[in-house]
Amino acid sequence: MDLLERICYGERFGAVYTQDSTAETPEKPANDEEDVNKFSLRRLSSEEYVIFTLDLCHNQLDRHFSKFPNEELEKINKLVPGRPLMERHDLRGSLPRGVFFKSCLAVDNEKIYVRPKVYVLRLEENKSFIANIEGGIYRETSIGFTFTLPECSICGKDIRKCVHIPGKKYDSELCFYWLRDVQEVLEGSVVACGSQGTGFVRDYRNSVIAGLGEKWDIIYSLNNFKKTPWLEND
Ligand SMILES: [Zn+2]
Repeated sequence: MDLLERICYGERFGAVYTQDSTAETPEKPANDEEDVNKFSLRRLSSEEYVIFTLDLCHNQLDRHFSKFPNEELEKINKLVPGRPLMERHDLRGSLPRGVFFKSCLAVDNEKIYVRPKVYVLRLEENKSFIANIEGGIYRETSIGFTFTLPECSICGKDIRKCVHIPGKKYDSELCFYWLRDVQEVLEGSVVACGSQGTGFVRDYRNSVIAGLGEKWDIIYSLNNFKKTPWLEND
């Protein structure tokens, strides 16, 4: 796998959030138990699993000099429920640790995140996995996905076929590529040391933005929410 292929199909980093029992709102309570049980073969009681909220990707320039357009985040948000939570993108050697059972788009100023919830069974074999997330040791996450068009920010062509190089400047304009035409979300992973500068958000509150159109399920917000032009126009 060459460098460009690696960066095109590589990891994206977000952050695991603290266990999220506060995201429910009086206006639209999140019925997590019902949503979890859409994916189980027998009825699970809430004592049988733990729920985590995490970010999988966002609309900011990442360390590979690539960026998701907002419309691709919207697509990813719909594709995430039902996908597995893995460790280190290991699709060959290990089985899932959890299942993403719902997802939302979260807005923090100009940043938009795909922010799903995942459930992990309280099995003996998951004990240390859960403890390490709760304890803040396993804190980074990453999305595994496929897409077809890495579009050059300078010339608009497929960056594999043009002369521009991500990370280089052309007339003081930084070259990156847009991650377009997302095909699949394969999984979301806990990774040991991915770094995009994001970390735990301790001050996750109930301030919820809703009613931005039918295709927006619920948008949980962080502090200092501001509508972006994109959201206003949507
Ligand atoms: Zn180009």
